Amino acid sequence: MPASEGEKIAELAKRRGFFFGAAGAYGGVGGFYTYGPQGASLKRNVEDAWRERFAVQEGNLEIDGPTVMPEPVFEASGHLDGFDDMLVECPGCGESHRADHLIEDSTGIEEAESMPIEEVEALIAEHDLACPNCGTPLKGEAVEEFNLMFETTIGPGSSTPGYLRPETAQGIFVEFPRLKEYARNRLPFGVTQIGRAYRNEISPRKSLVRTREFTQAELEQFVDPERDEPELAAVADIEVRLYPATEQTADDGEIVETTIGAAVEDGVIANAWIGYYLGIAYEWYESVGVDMDRFRFRQHLSGERAHYAADCWDAEAEVDGDWIEIAGFAYRGDYDLSKHAEHADDDFTVFRQYDEPKTVETAVVDPDMSVLGPEFGGAAAGVADALQRLAEREPAAFEGEEVTVEVGDSEYSVPTAVANFRIEEQTESGEHVTPHVVEPSFGVDRTVYTLVAHGMREDEVDGETRTYLDLSPTVAPTDVGVFPLVSNVDYLIEHAETVAADLRGAGFSVAYDDSGSIGRRYRRQDEVGTPFCVTVDRDGLEGDGPDSVTVRERDSAAQVRVPVDDLVSVLLDLRGGVRTFDDVLDEYDAVSTSAEA
Ligand code: AMP
Repeated sequence: MPASEGEKIAELAKRRGFFFGAAGAYGGVGGFYTYGPQGASLKRNVEDAWRERFAVQEGNLEIDGPTVMPEPVFEASGHLDGFDDMLVECPGCGESHRADHLIEDSTGIEEAESMPIEEVEALIAEHDLACPNCGTPLKGEAVEEFNLMFETTIGPGSSTPGYLRPETAQGIFVEFPRLKEYARNRLPFGVTQIGRAYRNEISPRKSLVRTREFTQAELEQFVDPERDEPELAAVADIEVRLYPATEQTADDGEIVETTIGAAVEDGVIANAWIGYYLGIAYEWYESVGVDMDRFRFRQHLSGERAHYAADCWDAEAEVDGDWIEIAGFAYRGDYDLSKHAEHADDDFTVFRQYDEPKTVETAVVDPDMSVLGPEFGGAAAGVADALQRLAEREPAAFEGEEVTVEVGDSEYSVPTAVANFRIEEQTESGEHVTPHVVEPSFGVDRTVYTLVAHGMREDEVDGETRTYLDLSPTVAPTDVGVFPLVSNVDYLIEHAETVAADLRGAGFSVAYDDSGSIGRRYRRQDEVGTPFCVTVDRDGLEGDGPDSVTVRERDSAAQVRVPVDDLVSVLLDLRGGVRTFDDVLDEYDAVSTSAEA
């Protein structure tokens, strides 16, 4: 019998086709998973629900960029130099371990990831840490930086190195010069991308939680830091559970239950944009079925944050006794766009129009080259440039009879009249600003994993234990199961197939099943989280087809007889949350559940 929650998830996921380790026929490969038929559908529904909320409802753009990008992109982003984890290799069995995780797992120290290497080596020695695989002591072993990016070469030969993207975000940043055009050069605007990311994790673990290929759903919200404010009022009343940095470092630190509005006002959430997205994310997680009693937002400790990030929070879900990061929310300032502007040959700014055009005074020179040329020969052009720079920097230098500039190691004196110094007035309508970035970054696989973990239930139906998956109808892999009550009566099968086809035609994903007892068929659907099942029986047969069918709800196992003509609208309302199953029971006749036996 599987014992822990993690083992139960793995067992159910493999048996019922949610997800399993990839390439098992070849001995498997660590950190890669295949989603089976149920899992692929669940994952796609999670992605669609995310897209609907964070792209469509927010009026944001969506792009779909390549997964391989050339080296200069990652030079600019800092991934080439700094996207490292700490690796320690066991001298006994050769197994590689993440040094910071070894420390966290065996000492209770948190966030070892942000410690310098020497401190990590010292902690390994101090706590006599040994290889979890073979027990060989790791004291004295060197801890090394290991870059997590998968490298490849683009085209034949090895002259053009490329990397599999370690996050979807860079694909948005590098395209900023074009994306801002699509947004008509107006801030704020957001760009989303859902896609695969690759990290050569040192030790993949906990099933879908740490893999080497995973799916991210990222939003880059580009804002003018001086002008743009989020619509905080829309999320101000949402009640959230926060674990601020101050509580994490206090001896008796606790989860704070508050509202987004209060947390932003009190400065617990330092940035209003981050507050806005935490609010939206909270409601979204609830809508897709995360158990909000096993959910919190945890603020990064100052050592955990990148130096450019003003405020960072993680969405964390509790699974199997551990809190896992399922999304990150960071205020990244102008770091990303400035880095690409430094390295790339394009414009990563947006033109900010002034409310009123401004008149500015500019110091200019217009040196008489017919004097400078004969006087200074080859150095004349350099002298002219130096005069212009001096005029901008220090206009007062042109107040005397003569002005002196340095070019290289030499000094050149020019009569002020020859320099032709003057102050010009210019009208400026605006200025170029580098937008700031607010980044909500979601892990799709970790969300799927959380939904399966939080949805697993056991109860008793008709005196038998049943396990079922309490998945929200928004994301459940199958909308409705359709069965003939008995599987050996041809006309019932025919009618049930017709009902299934009609429901598919109405846009439902349907699992048709006519094998085994009706009780087993219900259990099969319960276990994969199908919220409703429709059964065609003799009672409902009238003339050429069924006049009514039974509709059964997964969680309560309650059944109701619904006229076939109403079936599509009833199921649409149930799926969309317009009507509850109790509403439907009030409207139509309940059916005794002993029919399941
Ligand atoms: P990060 O860019 O590290 O903040 O990651 C953003 C999100 O991607 C995290 O919140 C996770 O949900 C997800 N993620 C990061 N690394 C992995 C991984 N190795 N396996 C699965 N999901 C991951």
